Amino acid sequence: MNQEVKPGKILSTPTPWTERSVPGIEVPDEQQALKATFTEPTIECPECHALVTRTAMSFNAYVCPQCDEHLRMKARERLTWFLDQVTAELGQEFTAKDPLHFVDSRPYPERMREAQDKTGESEALIVMQGTLKNLPLVACAFEFDFMGGSMGTVVGDRFVQAAERAIAQRQPLICFAASGGARMQEGMLSLMQMARTSAAIQRLKDAGLPYVVVLTHPVYGGVTASLAMLGDVHIAEPKAMIGFAGKRVIEQTVREKLEEPFQRAEYLLDHGVVDQIVHRHALRDTVYRIVAKLMNLP
Ligand SMILES: [Zn+2]
Repeated sequence: MNQEVKPGKILSTPTPWTERSVPGIEVPDEQQALKATFTEPTIECPECHALVTRTAMSFNAYVCPQCDEHLRMKARERLTWFLDQVTAELGQEFTAKDPLHFVDSRPYPERMREAQDKTGESEALIVMQGTLKNLPLVACAFEFDFMGGSMGTVVGDRFVQAAERAIAQRQPLICFAASGGARMQEGMLSLMQMARTSAAIQRLKDAGLPYVVVLTHPVYGGVTASLAMLGDVHIAEPKAMIGFAGKRVIEQTVREKLEEPFQRAEYLLDHGVVDQIVHRHALRDTVYRIVAKLMNLP
């Protein structure tokens, strides 16, 4: 008997062949498969909002594979990525004190503990000695997540020690800067670090050793006014914000609207503040070439 078919009515939906079970092959539990997907931590690109797994990001040196945005690298990860081999970590013996017993909305030691828990670091500057393409050198990097990479006495101590080690062993010094400036909780003592670090850099230069600065997003305040602008060569990462006072403060002072790319690396390159902008993937080669040239290496 013929069944009457009304237009638009679907009689039955057959299972597509891709979903039919094959004897001998076990289909994984759907929930299990979903769990496996979500256990891999992902990072969202702030520029294009692509979700990239942490592993993929790490392999790509935290450059977004989709839009080439340079994401912030943690100081420790940055140095272990930059150096082929780490032979020593310097300055771990320096720990911050609270000489002013400073309290803003919270006491300074409490803020320090919070920063240490958050980052797993004891201070905002990490110094390592190691090799880059078999060239021994001293490299330091600011941890921006540690109180905005602010420069207090310990950052100064560690930087001076890095410079002294470089002089003693006749090695170049590389600095990856990322900072909001001086650490106001240490008052005048933090401002003194500008002079201390500048003097250490001068001793390095007197010894005829190269000092290369890599400006990473962002570099401001007392760090810009001292160690970050005293390099023999200043390299910046693409789109890094670099300045002394922040854009908003300048806008309020000069009563003018400052449009993009004000204070960006590209703008500073056009105005002679930065020597070159280097993609992170080319950074190791570029720094090596510069240092080898400055040290008259073959
Ligand atoms: Zn992206």
